[in-house]
Order: sequence, then structure tokens, then C-alpha cells
Amino acid sequence: MDNCIFCMIANGQIPSTSVYEDEDFKVVFDIAPAAKGHLLILPKSHADNVCDLPEETAAKIMPLAAKLGSAQMKALGAKGFNIVVNTGEAAGQTVMHCHTHVIPRYEGEAPIVANWAQGSYADGEAASVAQAIVKAL
Ligand code: AMP
Ligand code: ZN
Repeated sequence: MDNCIFCMIANGQIPSTSVYEDEDFKVVFDIAPAAKGHLLILPKSHADNVCDLPEETAAKIMPLAAKLGSAQMKALGAKGFNIVVNTGEAAGQTVMHCHTHVIPRYEGEAPIVANWAQGSYADGEAASVAQAIVKAL
């Protein structure tokens, strides 16, 4: 897609620091890392978000993310990693070309992803919310 920064990076029209590439993806450093070694998995074909990604491409992302996270732990001494796919502006997606963050986490750091305030449901609310989701699937 014209004027898409991640299309240009994924297809080599803009230089990047890359750690992996195959026919479907380029994996690059995030320009403003949440932690040392923060990676972005960029599909080479444009899709606005994960919902628009062909299923066969989407299915390759999780194994790749796991491989990259394992390499972050082995090479950088990370003790864990977060795999994050922000989808839609409300979820914090700022670049509208599907991308998967692989963020290494180091000992002594506070969690940065799973640190949301824990909510609760009113009586019966969980069942009706579940029903609405089931209907929409
Ligand atoms: P998100 O908020 O999930 O859309 O994440 C977008 C990410 O892309 C942010 O973490 C940015 O730091 C990163 N980013 C934006 N522009 C670039 C760029 N030119 N090269 C590498 N990473 C970028
Ligand atoms: Zn794009």
C-alpha cells in the first residue's frame, strides 16, 4: 500500500535493523523500544490489522513470535516476553499495518502489559456478555 511506513520497511524500501526475514515477514527493531530488543513482526503484504490478515499468514505469526521470544531470552538474558497485537485505535494501535510486538521482559521489571485494573461483572452480566460474543462468532 502506498504511503504505509510498515509496507516500506517490510519490503526494504526504508532501511531498518532486522533480525529475521522470510517470504511472508520481516522482523525489525521497534524505533521506540519498551525494552532492549523489542521486536516488530511485519507481514510483507499490507493488512490494516489482524482481522484483515489472511488466515494462513496469521497462523505463522505465533510460532515465529515464540521463536523470537526464545532468542531474546537466550541472547539478551530476558526472563520472559510479551506478544502483543494492538488492534484498532481504541486498543492503542497507532500504525495501521498489522504488526506483532515481541517485547522481552527482564528480571526486576514490573509487568507492562498484564497490569490492568481487575474488574468484575454484575450478577448475570457475564452470561449475557458471553451470549453476545457467541452470537457474533
Ligand atoms: P502500535 O501502538 O501497536 O500501533 O505500535 C506501533 C509501534 O511502531 C510503536 O511501538 C512505535 O514505536 C513503532 N514504530 C513507529 N514507527 C516506526 C518505524 N519507522 N520503525 C520502527 N518502529 C516504528
Ligand atoms: Zn502497509
